[in-house]
Amino acid sequence: MIQIKHLSKAFGKLSVFDDTDFSFPGRGLICLLGASGSGKSTLFNLLAGFDRNYTGEITVRGTDIRQLSEADLCAYRREDVGFVFQNYHLLSGYTALDNVMLACELNAEGKEQNLRSAQNLLQTLGLGNKQNAKIEDLSGGQKQRVAIARALINNPSMVLADEPTGALDRSNASEMMSLLKEISKDRLVIVITHDKKVCEFADEIIQIKEGKILKTEPDKEEIVHKHELRPIAAGRSVKPNLRKLAFKNFSIRLMRYLAVSLAVSIGTLGFILSLSSGNIMNQAIADFKDKNSAFNNGYIKTEDMNTVFAMLQKDVRLENVYQQYILKDITLTMNGKSEVMAAKYPLPKATESMAFGHMPARGKNEIVVSPSLAKKFTGDLSKLIGQKLILTYNGKQYSQTVAGIFNAYYDDFFVSSDVEQALYEGINNEESYSISYDVINFEDIVQVSEDLRLENIESKNASKEVLALQNTFQGLKQLFLVVSCLILLICIGLSMLLLFKLQNARYKEVGLLAALGFHKKMIRKVILNEYACLSAAAVVLNGILIAALDLASRLYEIPVQISGIQIAASILSTVLMIIVMSMLASYRLIHTEPAQALRK
Ligand code: ADP
Ligand code: MG
Repeated sequence: MIQIKHLSKAFGKLSVFDDTDFSFPGRGLICLLGASGSGKSTLFNLLAGFDRNYTGEITVRGTDIRQLSEADLCAYRREDVGFVFQNYHLLSGYTALDNVMLACELNAEGKEQNLRSAQNLLQTLGLGNKQNAKIEDLSGGQKQRVAIARALINNPSMVLADEPTGALDRSNASEMMSLLKEISKDRLVIVITHDKKVCEFADEIIQIKEGKILKTEPDKEEIVHKHELRPIAAGRSVKPNLRKLAFKNFSIRLMRYLAVSLAVSIGTLGFILSLSSGNIMNQAIADFKDKNSAFNNGYIKTEDMNTVFAMLQKDVRLENVYQQYILKDITLTMNGKSEVMAAKYPLPKATESMAFGHMPARGKNEIVVSPSLAKKFTGDLSKLIGQKLILTYNGKQYSQTVAGIFNAYYDDFFVSSDVEQALYEGINNEESYSISYDVINFEDIVQVSEDLRLENIESKNASKEVLALQNTFQGLKQLFLVVSCLILLICIGLSMLLLFKLQNARYKEVGLLAALGFHKKMIRKVILNEYACLSAAAVVLNGILIAALDLASRLYEIPVQISGIQIAASILSTVLMIIVMSMLASYRLIHTEPAQALRK
């Protein structure tokens, strides 16, 4: 059945086979004895077509297997060769039946038929009640029987068993050999072993010595050496459902894959949130503005009032620029009580602080008063807010609502800039006392103050507080960035570690799939599909994380706002990172030769 002619094979300078000839019969149990390193596994790789780098000729039923196309070679492995490995090479997480059915993915029988054959085979091998048991729950002997069922499911013309009893105890080993002996009645079974006891079952014992394949015992009667006419299987292959296979692999490793997705999602989301720490800063600025509604006000007292006033009016960063005057004989009326102030001086509002309540807002006719002034109208200061206070000036009345009490030790009050400007309207030919202005943008407050100082104009404003606030947030922003970079790096490191560990455990799976007749492209597709599942899981997890964060920020009023762009960026970068990381992790796996992968 197998003719080896002038076979030479070397690894670099190491010659394993040196111009050897050998002919394997069509059926029977052949034991291949030989010292470790003599070339037994190499011979298997050659027979299975894993290794095509040799001189000489290997023909199987008349076909030179080196001449087979990639597709025909896969079909040959699938239908003509059954593999049994020392360490079983069964897939954990799969049931016994699943493991056998994996070998049927590519045959043309149809699922029903395959299922029946697999069940019958397991039944025959004494595993009828273990079909749906997970591989990891079976004993060594049971596992090896599952492996035999998998090797036989496509009714191959030869079975290559590399130390099939190596991991079994004596009685299990004998049982296994009886089984292989039984199987060898209508096919060729080659068993690698270094156990003389195992050889007792052999029809023929061969050895590799000094590069030659040699018989150690003469032919026994029953071995058939006649050449069979059936050509080797080639070309016939159905499209396997690789997506399903990938999904199955994915679900078996679900927990580990979820851990990877979670780590990546947390990393990218954290990173993107940190880039948006501006939101938190805006919130803090809003809080600051709330507490100090005169935060943007400036107050200037100068010798050269008109020049400075003209200059300020031209500054596009400013609004509500007006000159302030001393109000003489202004009357305040509340609760039927009236109080006349002989002279009310303008105040630098931005540097005043509130005891309680808030600063007067424009357009609302609001007033704030000092405690000593308030006491002239009421004994209970706490009830003051919201009450009406009427200002009478120049024969006009201005009805105001008390908005708060500010910290001052003398009788004083101030109103919003629009009311203040209205009060000044009746004033003629008076010299102004000071100038008031508002800075339009928060970001300009510090610079305006700085520019005035350069012109030797002293302005009273809140630029110091604003600068302190901005500095704090600059520092915080940097801290955020550093921390989130760290989180991202740790998460990437962790997920890479997980992915690499996951991949390293898969070499034998890749080798196995190749032995079962899967093309390299198919194996690659299974792995890529698995990563597609991983990416999808990461997207879902990312979405869940974002939703959770959003909910938490609403419930606990955390000032994080996640915009659509951030959501998209987070999801996109998660997927990108998963793709890049899985490419890196699987690069070696995908590019490892199946024979090499089986050795790992
Ligand atoms: P064994 O009889 O123990 O199965 P092998 O067939 O695995 O021996 O190996 C035969 C010899 O070839 C050994 O010396 C081994 O180190 C060497 N060998 C096997 N595969 C390779 C390889 N891919 N590259 C280099 N040397 C190899
Ligand atoms: Mg070996």
